[in-house]
Amino acid sequence: MDFEFSEQQRMVRDMVRAFASERLRPGASARDEKGEFPADIFRELGELGLLGMLTPESYGGAGMDALSYLLAIEEIARADASVAVGVSVTNSVCQWPIARFGSETLKRSVLPPLARGDVLGGIMLTEPGAGSDLASLRTTYRVEGDRFLLSGSKAWITSAGVAATFVVLATRDASLGAKGISAFVLDARQPGVVVHPPERKMGLRSSVTAAVTLEDAEVPTTAMLGSEGEGMKVALATLDHSRLGIAAQALGIAQAAFDEAITYAKQREQFGKPIIEHQAVGFRLADMDAELEASRWLTYRAAWLSERPGRLSRTSAQAKLVASEMANRVVALAVQVHGGYGFSREFAVERLYRDARVTTIYEGTSEVQRMVIARALRDLETTAPA
Ligand SMILES: Cc1cc2nc3c(=O)[nH]c(=O)nc-3n(C[C@H](O)[C@H](O)[C@H](O)COP(=O)(O)OP(=O)(O)OC[C@H]3O[C@@H](n4cnc5c(N)ncnc54)[C@H](O)[C@@H]3O)c2cc1C
Repeated sequence: MDFEFSEQQRMVRDMVRAFASERLRPGASARDEKGEFPADIFRELGELGLLGMLTPESYGGAGMDALSYLLAIEEIARADASVAVGVSVTNSVCQWPIARFGSETLKRSVLPPLARGDVLGGIMLTEPGAGSDLASLRTTYRVEGDRFLLSGSKAWITSAGVAATFVVLATRDASLGAKGISAFVLDARQPGVVVHPPERKMGLRSSVTAAVTLEDAEVPTTAMLGSEGEGMKVALATLDHSRLGIAAQALGIAQAAFDEAITYAKQREQFGKPIIEHQAVGFRLADMDAELEASRWLTYRAAWLSERPGRLSRTSAQAKLVASEMANRVVALAVQVHGGYGFSREFAVERLYRDARVTTIYEGTSEVQRMVIARALRDLETTAPA
């Protein structure tokens, strides 16, 4: 067993940590307040190679390992979770499935601009009537000459209106269930893609999330991922990997809240001493410390496993479930440690509390993660560690 980071992992973490503390943390609160998408910051992230981290070098990406990517997401989320989600979707739910399931021609044409950060990417799975039960989606596709035409409604699409390239799931015929669903790569810069006004969200307020209507949106027949009918396979494999990014985002938010709580507890005095010296507060901080560390190593190990043979579903669901639930407990405790000041917008924990909330919801709710784990347990012969 080796718990050392590689040279590259350490370099990525230190570089992103420095960038995040200089460029992301100072404006995070103002961006949250204004609900402004920071296009300039994404340009800089592209220049640093952070928008194509998992994409192979042959397609213009950085070709990095899964843990380097997670360390980058964690450090970005520690400074600004809104930026982290945009970085995560373009890397992991857009470029990753294209690199894994796209044809050579498709990869050569769409990956380099994404990997350079010239354009951003995202994914359109969710619909108004299909969230956790993705196989019940209603967006349809039909063939016309050398293109597919996609029609339907998508909901809660991160980076809609700011990203150009989306992985989209649609069905040939909803009565076929999961077997009718295929995955496509859609260029959103066309009249058939109508983006609605951004959602007014509780947290992640400087990330854009919007509903999208597809009205005969055109996709060339070369832009299908996998074969016809393999859309659910593409989506589930993608989510198995991308969920680790949400676990890393949760770790970053929790770490930031923990840092704030420690600083505050050392400096705030009540009953004649710093509140960290009151056992009830010290014990809270101790729980936060232990839970954060446990979630972190579960997530890092899942990243390591993701590059080895074997099914990832159970491991990645465990990491996402544990890290996101932990983050919600840690941010709540951090607010409590701040007393009334934790309820004020002047203190970072208030934003962290709101930003953490969605981590148990998107890319599969905690209930969905438990379903994934329970399904894997049903098929296991033994639960003893390998
Ligand atoms: C900020 C934000 C960004 C998002 N970005 C994207 C994006 O970029 N692309 C995209 O495609 N989607 C995106 N989503 C959508 C997100 O993935 C869905 O909201 C999520 O999968 C849950 O779906 P739902 O909202 O329809 O909830 P539902 O599926 O309706 O679930 C409602 C509740 O019922 C529970 N539930 C449902 N079924 C079961 C069951 N069988 N057993 C037990 N409990 C169950 C759920 O756990 C949940 O608590 C985003 C959402 C948010 C909030």
